[in-house]
Amino acid sequence: NELATMMDVSVTEIIATCMSLGLFVSINQRLDAETLTIVADEFGYEIQFVGAEEEEINLEEADEEGDLVPRSPIVTVMGHVDHGKTSLLDFVRKANVISGEAGGITQHIGAYEVMVDGDKSITFLDTPGHEAFTAMRARGAKVTDVAIIVIAADDSVMPQTREAINHAMAANLPMVFAFNKIDKPGANADRIREQLSAMNILVEEWGGKYQTQEISAKTGFNIDKLLEKVLLEAEILELKANPNKRAVGTVIEAQLDKGRGYVATVLVEAGTLKVGDPILAGAYSGRVKALYNERGTRVESAGPAAPVQVLGFQGAPQAGDRFNGVDSEPEAREIANKRLQLQREQGLRTQKHITLDEIGRRLAIGNFKELNIIIKGDVDGSVEALSDSLQKLSTEEIQVKIVHKAVGPISESDVLLATASDAIIIGFQVRPSAGARKLAEAEEIDVRLYSIIYKAIDEIKAAMEGMLAPEF
Ligand code: GDP
Repeated sequence: NELATMMDVSVTEIIATCMSLGLFVSINQRLDAETLTIVADEFGYEIQFVGAEEEEINLEEADEEGDLVPRSPIVTVMGHVDHGKTSLLDFVRKANVISGEAGGITQHIGAYEVMVDGDKSITFLDTPGHEAFTAMRARGAKVTDVAIIVIAADDSVMPQTREAINHAMAANLPMVFAFNKIDKPGANADRIREQLSAMNILVEEWGGKYQTQEISAKTGFNIDKLLEKVLLEAEILELKANPNKRAVGTVIEAQLDKGRGYVATVLVEAGTLKVGDPILAGAYSGRVKALYNERGTRVESAGPAAPVQVLGFQGAPQAGDRFNGVDSEPEAREIANKRLQLQREQGLRTQKHITLDEIGRRLAIGNFKELNIIIKGDVDGSVEALSDSLQKLSTEEIQVKIVHKAVGPISESDVLLATASDAIIIGFQVRPSAGARKLAEAEEIDVRLYSIIYKAIDEIKAAMEGMLAPEF
């Protein structure tokens, strides 16, 4: 109705156009951005979105090529439980604290920076595991540049190792493999290399592209070499940022501290954050009262790839929220209030994710090229069979991509991955856990349960054919 009024055409004409896109709408229904664009185009109008989206554009200043200087990589450590992620993070933190200030007690603030080779640095995210990583990604945050996948060499590639690898791959993250616990008598790194190659992950020593390093997180053996390899991987990425502008970055964690008020750890992505800067993150604004590094030392500013604790927010933003330095505190407050209002209006509506029923419409709109699927099943045989058959459904127009497949019930981590990669989840002879079901509902993730393989294949095929036939 609103759109009809704006374009001065009849409501029935708009409804008819929507129907031709395979979308049955009522007069009061709100259309999403893509549909609006298409429908308006049919009537010779071009849509410009203003408001919330425009404000984001204004907040972040564009860079000229000459403004960019190299920045340090940001690294996440992932792997199976007990394979040594925490030990690795602890060892690195203790052994490589930034020069000159050794001896200081490092605190867990969510991330820390270490010096390597005296003149290069790496920032580690201090919450190990792919769940934390994917949860941030599901909120739209892209903070990690390289993943270290830790695998205990006295054990094997385990379910969570596979999960970690798939989560990293879904994010297009380069991976470096750390074969840990090499000090243990039963350690055998070649066995791990073999298991990886069975997953189509070929390590460098065997002619592949993945760097590996045998290490002991307990004794510290070869950890320097691991860090070198991480730096090598990062070099290929040519990471750059402009330090000379208002800061932008991501909130890593935030809480209310009794004595100090709201304390948030942020990771600066570009620009420089300084004491006194007006700031904004999520629906909260403030002014930087003080900045602390991971040793609890006060600092005056933090540049690209630096993690820093910020005092001065008026509330606790969420992990994964984008943060911005802004021109003035009133401006920050105004935007924060607008966002709060928007959140209320939309009832915290999450971003719309793909569903099988939606595929046809998205294809009609013309921007749907890849159907991402996560498969969970009761036994390996059926997971593989399903995965093979679904991949074979790929056509020139739509690629079926299996983002993750594994044996076991549908977990919250699967739902997070689906959220972050806009995927649907197929459960074969398995169900979601209670937590996963709740999260899937909240995030509006399409979870389909089947007990017969061909039914699953038929249904996906039908959905994909729906997308192949936009008839006007
Ligand atoms: P996480 O669950 O992946 O974070 O694993 P942890 O870092 O907590 O390690 C699990 C256990 O393995 C702990 O008891 C560690 O002391 C032990 N561990 C970790 N790395 C090594 C290593 O390189 N060698 C040996 N011998 N033990 C290790």
